[in-house]
Amino acid sequence: MSKAYYLWNIGCQMNQADADRLAEALQARGYRPTPNPEQADLLILNTCVVRQSAEDRVLGRLNSLRPLKRQDGQKALVVMGCFVDDPAALAQRFDFVDAFFKPSDLAGVLAFVDRRNGTSVVAPPAAPAQVIEYVPISYGCDHHCTYCIVALRRGAQRSRPVQEIVAEVQDLVARGAREITLLGQNVDSYGADLPDRPDLADLLRAIHNTPGLWRIRFLTSHPADMTPRLIETVASLPKVCPSWELAVQSGDDAVLKRMGRGYTVAQFLRLVEQIRALMPESALNTDIIVGFPGETEEQFENTVRLLRTVRFDVVHVAAYSPRPGTPAARLEDDVPPQEKERRRALVEAIQEQIAGEINARLLGRDVVILVDGRQKGRWRGRTRTNKLVFFESAEDWLGRLARVRITWAGPWSLIGEVVGAVPCEP
Ligand code: SF4
Repeated sequence: MSKAYYLWNIGCQMNQADADRLAEALQARGYRPTPNPEQADLLILNTCVVRQSAEDRVLGRLNSLRPLKRQDGQKALVVMGCFVDDPAALAQRFDFVDAFFKPSDLAGVLAFVDRRNGTSVVAPPAAPAQVIEYVPISYGCDHHCTYCIVALRRGAQRSRPVQEIVAEVQDLVARGAREITLLGQNVDSYGADLPDRPDLADLLRAIHNTPGLWRIRFLTSHPADMTPRLIETVASLPKVCPSWELAVQSGDDAVLKRMGRGYTVAQFLRLVEQIRALMPESALNTDIIVGFPGETEEQFENTVRLLRTVRFDVVHVAAYSPRPGTPAARLEDDVPPQEKERRRALVEAIQEQIAGEINARLLGRDVVILVDGRQKGRWRGRTRTNKLVFFESAEDWLGRLARVRITWAGPWSLIGEVVGAVPCEP
């Protein structure tokens, strides 16, 4: 009887990529996944603490598993991810947990599993890849944004060598992947810690000619590290999608300074201009924090002005919450919770209108999407500008490129009718 594992994962795309790789490695060891902790021999929580709400979810999930461990000591319970700052202290606080591992320490978790099973694994034939695969290119971050706990928990930037990433991309494409998303806390400083200092532009060039690879994306970008060289490289490489995750966080220079972001609104707008000058069809997505300590109504209005000026395709907005050990946690958290919520909701409402207007321009037009799955009985896929599109068809479209005529447009997704297959992209 094969063993079962329960893998609970929250947080960023990097956590998702770690969870996917861990699942693949556990299945290679003969484990099968179960959504039910009661049925699992191995329970793994891959955690996030980027905001208080995320940490509360981790504590809730962890404590809900305590009785299970008390009932059955044979079960192994592992906690990994950004919740794990001090494993020894956590082991005292949560004595029912068998092991704690830092973010992305997959080797540590698998060694623990192998030790527990007294096994070592012979690599089985690799499983088919997903249509879209995520490949971490660096771990950690060298920035010290004052509100951010990620850099504290994931440590300084460690970039993976170019050849290691190229080999992984070639392997994934050989196993059926058609789109690769390169991941890092700050992909724009990729390679700065490597001896020969390759950068993201070099890496994009290195993977671009992988046969069978149709699309390349990367996230997350940092305005202080994005260069004209990178923008020109993206414009010159047809497989790289003109969809940018460029986290601005605030539209006010004084707030950006208190956040330690390292750029001004004017510098950010110059980047947007450079991107749109070379790739006018680009999609621009960003992150915004509202209610940062000391943020006045006027400073918040500057953020609203930036949203109206740039007209982003997607805005991920969050209310500021102090994180333990961060410099900002020493500042007075003086924006009242209701005011934070008013600002967060206003940004969401403004963005919903802007996104709706942007997507409405696609009504009646044909778009090409890479179909990566089904959802609620419809095929689902994304354009090169990361627009989510659904269509109905009896044909099997998984992993194929479909030309779809848009018949409905909402702020977050589009619906259309398939008008044909596209052989493959460049
Ligand atoms: S760039 Fe700033 S916000 Fe992003 S991970 Fe690094 S320190 Fe955190």
